[in-house]
Amino acid sequence: MILGKYSFGVGDRFNHQGEAQLSALITATSEGVEVTPVWNKSNREHNIVHSEPVGTRMEADAAVKNLGWEGPYFVDADHINLSNVDRFIDHADFFTLDVAMYIGNESSQEDVAAFKKSCATLGSEVTIPGIPEPIQISDELLQQVAGKYLAAIKEAGKIYRHIEEKKGAGNFVTEVSMDEVETPQTPVDMFFILKMIANEKIPAQTIAPKFTGRFNKGVDYVGDVEQFAKEFEQDVLVIDYAVKAFGLPENLKLSVHSGSDKFTIYPVMAKIIKKHNKGLHVKTAGTTWLEEVIGLAIAGDEGLIVAKEIYIKALERKVELCAPYADVIDIDDSQLPSPDEVAGWTGEKFANTLRHIPGYPDYNPNFRQLIHVGYKVAAEMGEEYTNLLKKYADVVGSCVEENIYDRHLKRLFDL
Ligand SMILES: [Zn+2]
Repeated sequence: MILGKYSFGVGDRFNHQGEAQLSALITATSEGVEVTPVWNKSNREHNIVHSEPVGTRMEADAAVKNLGWEGPYFVDADHINLSNVDRFIDHADFFTLDVAMYIGNESSQEDVAAFKKSCATLGSEVTIPGIPEPIQISDELLQQVAGKYLAAIKEAGKIYRHIEEKKGAGNFVTEVSMDEVETPQTPVDMFFILKMIANEKIPAQTIAPKFTGRFNKGVDYVGDVEQFAKEFEQDVLVIDYAVKAFGLPENLKLSVHSGSDKFTIYPVMAKIIKKHNKGLHVKTAGTTWLEEVIGLAIAGDEGLIVAKEIYIKALERKVELCAPYADVIDIDDSQLPSPDEVAGWTGEKFANTLRHIPGYPDYNPNFRQLIHVGYKVAAEMGEEYTNLLKKYADVVGSCVEENIYDRHLKRLFDL
């Protein structure tokens, strides 16, 4: 299975927006840019909303059938490891092997020696076209990168072979992810990580490094955009080199786990992939959940009541809800409106506060991040929540579609 040049991950916590999401991708295709839809859901997300991987598969299949999409599409078992991959095997055809937690683990002396030996053919210096500084290969550098990444990639090899044994080689797309860590991986790290992936014979089609800067949930990029652009471009060049030199799949490309809505860097990435004629995969998830809440608020009546209830409960349970996301949210409590204030809002005011339109006077990224982590509140409402998604399917769906197309795909693929 080959993942196309451009692909876009649409997460959907409650499995009701598949058609709205696919509609946005169909519009991109009709505008001349074919973007492969991928429905991604992590094990953590399934556990929080008490859903099962079969639900994502059913949603994707139904959306594709109902809208007559004839192109390829995938269901991504996002951020899996050996301990939880089995529940996804029958339902996913894209697996994101998350080995971040193995970074820095010790490897055996034999493994390190074998890695160093495999690098002997590189010589003492590697020049990657487009990158001014050559990589100076030394025993010290090899020792250092092996210390950081070898155990992680060995683990990725184990997970890959476990899936391959069950699904058969070539029957799924493989991604290797290391994005959920604090320290970014440099382009030199990327070079050696790809060498290790090739040594393990993992046919990775996408790779998700940790980039420089903060990727907070549901809000824009925070960091040095110039530095990001430099690293992103060098990663693209390193991948191009590694594909040829190490025999990795030709369509290997970067996967950006965006945490949704990294609008500032979308055009930066668009420009670089265009310049080098390369592909890109971008994952989103929470942005769709946030549009559901926006849609309910606009729908008014019960929809608005529940939208307000979600915020007020999330505010009460802020510490608990934010805990699993401590590294990827930055909420300024002093900017959060009080429950009394929100209780008096119109649907329009609520939606304008939540909707991510940079520069809009009502937009409040603190409010948005709190609701982002508040999906557990909606999950606990059960059918009370999902029945409203059905009742207000039109208005909610149009919010979801507009968001994916206008705010994400247009910026990413220069539509
Ligand atoms: Zn991720």
